[in-house]
Amino acid sequence: MPYLTIPVFSRENLRETAEGRWQAIRESRPDLEPALVLQRELLTRTIDLAETLGAGRLPRLSLPPKYLAAKLARGVPALAGEPIPLPVPVLTPVLFQLCDALANGGAGEAATHIRQELEGGKLEAASLLNASLHRDQAALRTGAIHRGLSPDLMWLVAELAVSPFAHALQRMLFGAVAAGELHDALDAWPHGYCPACGSWPAVGEVAGGHRTLRCSFCSCAWELKTYACIYCENGGEGFVTAAPNEERKDRRIEVCSACGGYLKTIDVPELSPFPLLSISDIETTDLDVAAMEHGYGRPGMKEFTKKK
Ligand SMILES: [Zn+2]
Ligand SMILES: [Zn+2]
Repeated sequence: MPYLTIPVFSRENLRETAEGRWQAIRESRPDLEPALVLQRELLTRTIDLAETLGAGRLPRLSLPPKYLAAKLARGVPALAGEPIPLPVPVLTPVLFQLCDALANGGAGEAATHIRQELEGGKLEAASLLNASLHRDQAALRTGAIHRGLSPDLMWLVAELAVSPFAHALQRMLFGAVAAGELHDALDAWPHGYCPACGSWPAVGEVAGGHRTLRCSFCSCAWELKTYACIYCENGGEGFVTAAPNEERKDRRIEVCSACGGYLKTIDVPELSPFPLLSISDIETTDLDVAAMEHGYGRPGMKEFTKKK
């Protein structure tokens, strides 16, 4: 089945798994140490937030399986364009903590500045969180530039704070889908962007020979029936899979000369549980460098027209 449900780990289990993976990275890439220290700070926040959200109640969404199935059949992700009440009071303190962690972890004043704007009320937490949940990169960028803030950093802070909620929604909508039209629509999903939120995958994790795309935002896991460029669906001549390091064939990049996009794919013993996918991302930064050196890039967020 192309949509995969990943078992839930306890907080202790997640921390232990993360520590083991960081130790392995540290041994082969000591230069990544500062990035790993920062990642631990950020992941601790998202793991704690996921636990808090898991203990509370998620909003009841009026999204019947039949409606979602029809939406997916049109190529529109489930959450796109839906009014979803965000737990703003729970997420706002986490925004502050993330700004602090980033400020101490190398982003310095640019992160402090975002926190100050939020605290002073010039930047509204609710609208920032909403823009992120709805993957509205254009609105968030405009808002950041207008206030003299770093658009990339603001996008990152909001994304980290909202991702546990987006992950929980994704699981609620797709995680327990029984046989029926929504099951079939997910099974038939042919796109490289996430069927839940519309983001592009951070990486492709290959476990047991299955190339599973992993959403960079909600951690959704899905497998395509075709082997082609995930961005433009070209599977012809210009689509090449290569291992930049001859001795590490378990770490590859798929590059496409038709659209200029690339995707990292790595062999893993098992798919990463949320939010540890970001460790797969950080442990493959050399693949990003190799792809970018050859002129490949990753496209911006795909935009979806409003529902109906
Ligand atoms: Zn997603
Ligand atoms: Zn392409």
